[in-house]
Amino acid sequence: HAKNAGRNACRMFKRGMNELIEKRRELEVDLEIALQRGEFELYLQPRVEAESGIIIGYEALLRWFHPRRGMISPGNFIPVAEASGKIIRLGAWVLAEACKILDSIDGHISVNVSPLQFRHADFVTDLADLLKTTGADPHRIELEITESVLIEDDKRAVQILNDLKRMGFHIALDDFGTGYSSLSYLSRYPFDTIKIDRSFVNNLNLVDNAQIIVRTIIDLGSGLGMKVVAEGVETTEQALFLAHAGCDELQGYLLGKPRKLGEITREIDPAIATQLRNVPKKLPEI
Ligand code: C2E
Ligand code: MG
Ligand code: MG
Ligand code: MG
Repeated sequence: HAKNAGRNACRMFKRGMNELIEKRRELEVDLEIALQRGEFELYLQPRVEAESGIIIGYEALLRWFHPRRGMISPGNFIPVAEASGKIIRLGAWVLAEACKILDSIDGHISVNVSPLQFRHADFVTDLADLLKTTGADPHRIELEITESVLIEDDKRAVQILNDLKRMGFHIALDDFGTGYSSLSYLSRYPFDTIKIDRSFVNNLNLVDNAQIIVRTIIDLGSGLGMKVVAEGVETTEQALFLAHAGCDELQGYLLGKPRKLGEITREIDPAIATQLRNVPKKLPEI
């Protein structure tokens, strides 16, 4: 009996795996078609200066409009694009599109760069070409990479980052606190910005330790001369806590959801802006 049950479970597992592999393959084929047909769009989410409530830029977030399945979020297809190598072309499209968008927005644009894309031999030279052909100002572009891009004692990563910095790009460390981060990364790599992962921000009101962790990340980043951005800000309480703790910029549904270029948020809710401006400035340490 038990043996039968085991065999059944095994068969179910195999069927599940096959379905998963089949789904992935299907998505991969669809991705290729989507690249050819141009089924992608960049949505833009505002990034807000905490002490003024002013929108100082936007993060570009990729959306796929699948003809049958509707809108697909990047969490569902970026891993497939990464595993199949298609992220190289997709990422190149994202960067080119971001350069175009710069003409239509104020402030800067942040672009997510995947690990494979970052490591690709032509990444830096392709970017240089892109700047030349589009005339885009790299000082208005921030490249977001995650900790998973970096490994211990990574001379090549340092070189790529330094090249990008020399070209004028800003560099942000995305999802800070979620990877295998080593604090020494922060001083070893030339980040302009660190983005506190939204899981910490989400937990601010629930977990006591989250407040301490967030304060510490803010102090650490600021102390190292970096801009600190909080992701996933959904409530006024979170925004005010972060502003009070000295966080430089806020991003999240409270301030503005990702929207297509024609419908982006140009100003945040004035009531929230007023509250942000009334937060007392953090006193300098003595
Ligand atoms: P990310 O770079 O950390 O982007 C932030 C994600 O949080 C976005 O999800 C955004 O829509 C979501 N978000 C923003 N505010 C809130 C909030 O208040 N509450 C909640 N619950 N979520 C919020 P999205 O657009 O689904 O993107 C997911 C991830 O996919 C991104 O995380 C990024 O790692 C990746 N991604 C997006 N676009 C690109 C791209 O063009 N290239 C690459 N390589 N990766 C991308
Ligand atoms: Mg990001
Ligand atoms: Mg993030
Ligand atoms: Mg991310």
